[in-house]
Amino acid sequence: MAAGIRFARFGQKVLILEKHSKAGGLNSYYYRKGRLLETGLHAITNYAPPENKHAPLNRLLRQLKIPRRNLKLRQQLTSEVVFPERASLTFSNDFGLLQSQVALHFPDSIGQFNAMKDELDRYDPFSPRPKISARKFVSSFLSDKLLREMLFCPIMFYGSSDEGDMDLSQFVILFRSIFQEGLFRPEGTIKDLLGLLLQQYKDFAGEIEFSSGVEEIISTDNKITGVRTRKGEKIRCDCLISTAGLPETKRLFAAADSAAKFSELPEDNTCGRISFVESIFLLEKSASKCFSQGRTIIFYNLNEKFTYRRPDKAIDLNSGVICFPDNFVGGQEDNTIQIRVTHLANYDLWLQAYNDTDKSRYQTMKIYWTGRSKNIIGKIIGNCFENIVYEDTFTPVTIERYTSRLQGAVYGSPNKVKDGKTGFDNLYIVGTDQGYLGIVGSLLSGVTMVNQHILNRI
Ligand SMILES: Cc1cc2nc3c(=O)[nH]c(=O)nc-3n(C[C@H](O)[C@H](O)[C@H](O)COP(=O)(O)OP(=O)(O)OC[C@H]3O[C@@H](n4cnc5c(N)ncnc54)[C@H](O)[C@@H]3O)c2cc1C
Repeated sequence: MAAGIRFARFGQKVLILEKHSKAGGLNSYYYRKGRLLETGLHAITNYAPPENKHAPLNRLLRQLKIPRRNLKLRQQLTSEVVFPERASLTFSNDFGLLQSQVALHFPDSIGQFNAMKDELDRYDPFSPRPKISARKFVSSFLSDKLLREMLFCPIMFYGSSDEGDMDLSQFVILFRSIFQEGLFRPEGTIKDLLGLLLQQYKDFAGEIEFSSGVEEIISTDNKITGVRTRKGEKIRCDCLISTAGLPETKRLFAAADSAAKFSELPEDNTCGRISFVESIFLLEKSASKCFSQGRTIIFYNLNEKFTYRRPDKAIDLNSGVICFPDNFVGGQEDNTIQIRVTHLANYDLWLQAYNDTDKSRYQTMKIYWTGRSKNIIGKIIGNCFENIVYEDTFTPVTIERYTSRLQGAVYGSPNKVKDGKTGFDNLYIVGTDQGYLGIVGSLLSGVTMVNQHILNRI
């Protein structure tokens, strides 16, 4: 939608084809028992005050011509990285808090931490270059193993498509957007934010068709000439932008030689393996005793080392993210309070259960693992799961089903196309697989790619 707004703003005829019946992709919403539940939103990264004109968030809003006053931003209270019985670090939208926490809990490391931050400030994550190991980079500055693991925990959870290690460019983007800029939520729900974008797009005469998936990309030589939709309609175009993902877009070429032209990378290598199981709990207000610490998000890890990879079991309970969407400044008044819990998950095992001839197996597996998750989370935040009004759990299979991200890969392919270019003159990759991360990242990606590749054609 960001790409659409940017393009339509210059008077071009733009059509968005969206496979799902709703906008938002990985960050959408659904209804249960008459209540709107968000599929993804914990917090939006890249918070910036209005006076910081060069900050990604403010640049983005200017490019989309959305006045900042139209978005009421609620900043996080404080968030925390907890390695129980080892250490904890709190952070907020004031980077100084994290620095003081490192100084307090890792006094021998604060000089190293600040030196690393200075080096990260100088790093341009968008210049094309081969992957560099973020773990090696961080180890070259921080000698304390526990501190290293504690920093990787939120950074990987909030954006790494790689297992174990990650590309330094991605680390830099996430370090800045989570720790140096910070977390916020817009007032209302994700539906309100999507509605704002959709309205802006329509105001610029952009067109959108929902439940209209692209089944095939049609090409001649080095050019895309159009697409064929699920309804069998053929639509011609001068330029095509795909936010479906890198391997997902590759699959839309019927002819093998066109797919090879699009990307020479073996498909198996490009499909991301990181996915999650997430549970949403709506609790009676009395459970608010859990909220006394005023945390917005808690990233926990039970072991000394933080292991970030597709687990061998259905869910990895050793680590997780606990999000309190009500704990932002000016939290909304409601009869219930919400907790979201996210764990790394194994796509294959959930798919097996989903396809089992015993149709109850998938559901039973969800109930079993959610129960075990509640036990562990209860030990970290206090047992507040007694007064559940409603709960829902989704798995990598759910994510794949509603977003068409292969294997429910939440952060897309580990291979990012930083310049957005493909083997075709007029086809560009935008969003997660271009390498910008999260909600602000995907919006920025849309704007940047249109600026770089498309506006110069008109
Ligand atoms: C559980 C969860 C929690 C998250 N929490 C946060 C958070 O708190 N903060 C944050 O910043 N980010 C969060 N994210 C990540 C964020 O949602 C993504 O980074 C962002 O949505 C990526 O946007 P995108 O446009 O690249 O891709 P997507 O969101 O995947 O959008 C791609 C769109 O393309 C459509 N599509 C796919 N194939 C076709 C086709 N063939 N034809 C037509 N349409 C097609 C899909 O339906 C989808 O709408 C979360 C994600 C998940 C799953």
